[in-house]
Amino acid sequence: MSIRTPLIAGNWKMNKTATEATDLVKAIAAAVGTESAVQIVLCPPFTALSAVCAAAEGTHLAVGAQNMHDKTHGAFTGEVSAAMLRDLHVTHVILGHSERRAIFGEDDAFINRKVNAALAASLKPILCVGELLAEREAGTTNAVVKRQVELGLAGVPAGKAEQVIIAYEPVWAIGTGKTATPAMAQEVHAFIRSLLVTQFGAETAGRVRILYGGSMKPDNADALLAEHDIDGGLIGGASLEAKSFVDLVQSAAKSLTR
Ligand code: PEP
Repeated sequence: MSIRTPLIAGNWKMNKTATEATDLVKAIAAAVGTESAVQIVLCPPFTALSAVCAAAEGTHLAVGAQNMHDKTHGAFTGEVSAAMLRDLHVTHVILGHSERRAIFGEDDAFINRKVNAALAASLKPILCVGELLAEREAGTTNAVVKRQVELGLAGVPAGKAEQVIIAYEPVWAIGTGKTATPAMAQEVHAFIRSLLVTQFGAETAGRVRILYGGSMKPDNADALLAEHDIDGGLIGGASLEAKSFVDLVQSAAKSLTR
């Protein structure tokens, strides 16, 4: 059995008003109860963070943001800092999502500054990495992922590495209904863990959770989560409804008994 607690995180992207988000949290909390062998993190848009933190209080659910800036304060219109998130009782933050990289032009150096700023503020970063379809077809998946992991985690002290969660999200699988096969995903997850061994040593690398993301749904989750180095999922579409999200939590719980 893995020493890593499985983690299922919902990335709600630009969906859910604060009112809708509160209803969804209540439905998920009612279904999972206060005990679960699976860690659950809900990542609503900024505008719903406060309401979601309030609704999640006293439940098994943790709350994450979908982004943050690396600076502590200042003239950065439209941005929020790690301290602002901590003040709301947010515990996690998604960084380097492929949509931030592709649509908002975020590069590895900027993402790395955010990872270090999150850790300095005791927020757990969920660092997203993954190749484009053209990169997979060109056979450069490992090179792309290596660059994103190494540059993304540059300067992270070994003592804090366990706080980091990596999400391997092949970009061609996000929101497309195409999923990496369990074997394809496992191969990249094992490669990512080998990079972590080089940077932080085997013991620490063995404790870092590596999530799969990319059209994970109740009908493909069991097979993905059965793989040795797949420690959970970062879920987009299927996190927007309580039933499908809770099904994924249950798949992750089942993976512990295999
Ligand atoms: C994501 O955006 O992180 C994601 C995995 O989305 P989906 O599950 O919809 O593919």
